[in-house]
Amino acid sequence: MTESNVDRESKPRDLDTDRGIEDVIIVGGAAAGYTAALYASRANLEPLVIEGFQWGGQLQNTTDVENYPGFPEGMMGPELMVKFREQAERFGTRFVTDDATRIELSDGGIQRVWVNDDEYLAKAVILAMGAEPKRLGVPGEIELGGRGVSTCGVCDGAFFKGENVIVVGGGDSAMEDSIFISKFADQLAIVHRRDEFRASKIMLERAREVDNIEFKTPYVVEEFVAGDDGKLGSVRLHNVEDGESEEVEVGGAFVAIGHTPRSELVEDQLDTDENGYVLTRNGSTKTKLAGVFAAGDLVDHTYRQAVTAAGTGCMSALDAEWYLRDTPPSPEAHWAGKAGVAQEGEPDRAEAVEA
Ligand code: NAP
Repeated sequence: MTESNVDRESKPRDLDTDRGIEDVIIVGGAAAGYTAALYASRANLEPLVIEGFQWGGQLQNTTDVENYPGFPEGMMGPELMVKFREQAERFGTRFVTDDATRIELSDGGIQRVWVNDDEYLAKAVILAMGAEPKRLGVPGEIELGGRGVSTCGVCDGAFFKGENVIVVGGGDSAMEDSIFISKFADQLAIVHRRDEFRASKIMLERAREVDNIEFKTPYVVEEFVAGDDGKLGSVRLHNVEDGESEEVEVGGAFVAIGHTPRSELVEDQLDTDENGYVLTRNGSTKTKLAGVFAAGDLVDHTYRQAVTAAGTGCMSALDAEWYLRDTPPSPEAHWAGKAGVAQEGEPDRAEAVEA
């Protein structure tokens, strides 16, 4: 269940670095980034994670997680993220609890990441900034998050056994979520703003074949309305053709209108697809630039699960480790490294790097 105001353990870290060149910087503190950090730290790479001010990613806004293997009783999303983080820290990971503000990638040279005015250098960088579910931006959507309104059908569908629910959207995600949730729900309506669907024909047909799924078009959600118990009680729908509005009682509502990958800092430097997801090569986490790796929901618009993000996070650390093992240090790294412990008469690091 999604929820926005879960208590989070805030743990600012001391940064023990001379600001020399890191072996690996990981940008993004969630399932992919922390798993990359775990593997990289166990490989003695002492990774530095720029984890973001609101670390924890989408799981930070989730209550019960029942599909992460190894926890048969389930686990709260934020608690799971704390455990990921602690496990990475145990083996020497260091954290900067702030947002990366600029990233300058290099093809095989020094990777540069800024947090405001602070510049961090590394021989390899793992990008794991994740993705954000798109929101409708209507009243009640945020307020009732975790109390009936969800953005993850696979995560939360099973909580709505015997309820009437709606799924908003007309793409493959909406169809897939609907088919999954319809196994639990009594009645399910797919609410879409037009009569044509972006979903693939096969997914649309599959959804049409399910007895308890109906299609409600062309409708938009005007408001999610709380019931007496403070949970979602109904939705107000607006027919965009005839202008009529109606209120429908529901126990659950799933917003499945797509995701936005957090690739804005690197999209001009890497290959991305038309939606901004970073493209990786040959089933690995390698990008088109040597020493730059990408993992998790920043890359994956299909599976988007904590366990798949963790899986590709692991892959990215192994890819980075092999890259560092097999790649001789660049002259740039040599000079920048020297400048990190500048001797008398030597140029300081910044000048050496510019040279
Ligand atoms: P999507 O294809 O971009 O579809 C988003 C849907 O949400 C569209 O129908 C869009 O309506 C609607 N929408 C967007 N903003 C809205 C708003 N503000 N109000 C109301 N409706 C809104 O996103 P997706 O379904 O998440 O799929 C993303 C990608 O992942 C696709 O390439 C998809 O094929 C892939 N995917 C594949 C699978 C699978 O193969 N099993 C499963 C899931 C996703 P309009 O059409 O009117 O713009």
